[in-house]
Amino acid sequence: PHAPDGDAAIRSTDNDAALARLSAVQKHYLPDPYIRFFVPRAHLQPARPPLINVGTYVRSVAIDALVESFMGSADGSPVQIVSLGAGSDTRFWRIAAGEHAGRLAKYIEVDFPENTTKKAMAIKKNKDLAALVGEAKLVNGGMGLQSAMYHLLPADLRRPPAEALAALTSDIMSPSLPTLLLFECVLVYMTPAASSGLIQWFVDRFSAPDAAPLGGIVYEMFGLNDSFGTVMMSNLRVRNVTLPGAEPYPTVASLPARFAQHGFQHVGALTLKDIRQRYVEADELQRISQLEMLDEIEELELVLAHYAITWGVRTSGAPSPTWAGW
Ligand code: SAM
Repeated sequence: PHAPDGDAAIRSTDNDAALARLSAVQKHYLPDPYIRFFVPRAHLQPARPPLINVGTYVRSVAIDALVESFMGSADGSPVQIVSLGAGSDTRFWRIAAGEHAGRLAKYIEVDFPENTTKKAMAIKKNKDLAALVGEAKLVNGGMGLQSAMYHLLPADLRRPPAEALAALTSDIMSPSLPTLLLFECVLVYMTPAASSGLIQWFVDRFSAPDAAPLGGIVYEMFGLNDSFGTVMMSNLRVRNVTLPGAEPYPTVASLPARFAQHGFQHVGALTLKDIRQRYVEADELQRISQLEMLDEIEELELVLAHYAITWGVRTSGAPSPTWAGW
């Protein structure tokens, strides 16, 4: 049912994500010493427009803040992070080299085999990446990689989760560790049924009375049916990416249902526009406003209003007071 060239277009959205991050790093919006190792000829890549750099900045600091607060909330016990559609994301290395490294028990990344193969090779080739991963072996004929803490798994997340994620045995993903699921710009490429099947599969693994809390963070575009959303959609079509089905959560108010419908107790969502206006500290806003000329604040806000971060946390026993997202 999935045209192979359609899948190639979906996989290559990771190149856009990595180039956007590289650009924001090179323009000093964000510190990230690792992203260039995942982009061939990184020093020759053109910068993205200021509006994209600001968007990448807001998205990145917002997700970092939520991940950090989850890691800090688990009563001192180490946490497990599972990133679905991880692409070239560098979060594992940034955490492993950072002050919260001791709070990380496992970090699991899943993507299409073509993308995990490339990532596994990049890790093996680069000593800075390899050092933080620790002693590691290639698995699945080079499509995956495993170390004590870091796991890279090839899978098509549209397949039934019991098949796609069969490799996530309790050796790799333990239901007794507080666990955070990251869906950064990935659910939009799946049908609503496949997305909720995936979330429910994890919920089922964390449903025993003594299971640890399960948290989730989704970053996505929404509101694609209004006039500006239509423009954003046509940009995707130009790049051959077709989105499956009708938009399940067309407004920011509807987004928390992504988690609430699976029994998550604390849920919420904020647009990047609101996050930039209300949660990015004034001195940071001041700093990034001086990096590049951005004359169209209205256009920036229109774009940022179409992206949101949604979160939820679910405990199978008594509702947890530990992490309420924002
Ligand atoms: N999460 C990364 C980030 O935010 O930088 C990458 C985002 S990129 C836009 C989307 C990623 O999701 C790509 O790496 C793509 O291959 C992956 N992806 C999309 N659909 C997938 C599927 N059905 N199975 C596995 N990976 C998928």
